[in-house]
Amino acid sequence: MTSFVNTLHAKTILIATQNEKKRTEIGEILKDIPGVLLRSPDDFPFLPRVEEDGNTFRENAMKKAVPLAKACNTWAMSDDSGLEIKALGGRPGIYSCRYAGTNATDEKNIEKVLSELKGVPRGRRTARFVCAIALASPQGLFFVVEDYCEGFITEEPRGRCGFGYDPIFYVPEHNKTFAELSSSIKNRISHRAKALEQFKEKLQPLIRNL
Ligand code: IMP
Repeated sequence: MTSFVNTLHAKTILIATQNEKKRTEIGEILKDIPGVLLRSPDDFPFLPRVEEDGNTFRENAMKKAVPLAKACNTWAMSDDSGLEIKALGGRPGIYSCRYAGTNATDEKNIEKVLSELKGVPRGRRTARFVCAIALASPQGLFFVVEDYCEGFITEEPRGRCGFGYDPIFYVPEHNKTFAELSSSIKNRISHRAKALEQFKEKLQPLIRNL
């Protein structure tokens, strides 16, 4: 009975990303927020296509959350994230997903980054992951948060966990790449984990005031 009542009063939030691995990380980090029911795009068959043509991670996060919340008549959160490499002037940045071309695989994107960094010494291979997360209701934007995780780009891929650029993103504190870390550790230290901490802090009063 209790769980039925809790479900009835829960606030539904659509995790507005087609990237299943991102969704899994978000779901794992947010799983214990009381009063929230997380939904995936599969639960909403007629989602409009959203163009990610903003100039920043923040803009792209807003561009996804706002129209999808409206179209689905529910709250929606979206994550826009990517890798910024100092020696490449911040590239791939907002183009992280399609750095080696539209529909590029993670392997092709990694290959392109490593070839552009050929010969760059370890000390100049600094990089950071960035994650912006927006929350919107059908009436418009609530807020956007952004956070980072600093590291280095390795000379070759290492590890099999995670997704995207994880095999080449080295975290000195753990002496491992993201792809060598367990998901529980990545989900404590990553750009997404840190942005989701801010997200939770801002979400909880909104839920309480419903
Ligand atoms: P988005 O779906 O446009 O936000 O693209 C994000 C892209 O950035 C992903 O496809 C990955 O290539 C990369 N990315 C973002 N977050 C991570 C992460 O946690 N690990 C590895 N790559 C990431």
